[in-house]
Amino acid sequence: MPCPYIGRMSDRENEIISTVSYIQGKVGFREPPFSLQAFFEAFPHYQLEAARLPRGFHGEILVKGEWRLVRYRVESKGPAVRFTIAHEIGHGFLHADEEFVCRISTTFRLFGKKPADPVEWEADYFAAELLMPMPMVNRLARKRLDAESLSAEAKRLARVFGVTVPLMRARLQDLVRMRTFEVKMA
Ligand SMILES: [Zn+2]
Repeated sequence: MPCPYIGRMSDRENEIISTVSYIQGKVGFREPPFSLQAFFEAFPHYQLEAARLPRGFHGEILVKGEWRLVRYRVESKGPAVRFTIAHEIGHGFLHADEEFVCRISTTFRLFGKKPADPVEWEADYFAAELLMPMPMVNRLARKRLDAESLSAEAKRLARVFGVTVPLMRARLQDLVRMRTFEVKMA
């Protein structure tokens, strides 16, 4: 399926998608969920650690030469941690040699209001594309999504993609919006 939103993407968004596609290819990602374990095996200069982070922060990335240390809140569990880790990996690829400590979106939307800090938006965008590539979400989600089926699909696909339900719901809302554009452009 052609990418339904290619027409509206900025050069920077295209760059981010290319980076994500390169990683997904190297990791051999064909069906969800994206394996973070396979990522850390394929990119051994990235390391992962649970850490005590300042209150209100979910993750950070530390840099030393070629090494990238991704740290996530030791108290966090489950699928939310996967998005945090993907976000920090995004900083590692997109914002070379910079260190970040982050508060991470729990309902990232492509069509939502962009935050004041574009660098954080880019890392969220990267994470969403890495874990829930839109063409794959489009393929696996029901063709018709109304308010009721969207909630049920968000729950079902959150498990499939290994993300939280609010994140999957936001992703499906973006999908509905993209499909609308696709119909108009066809
Ligand atoms: Zn960040």
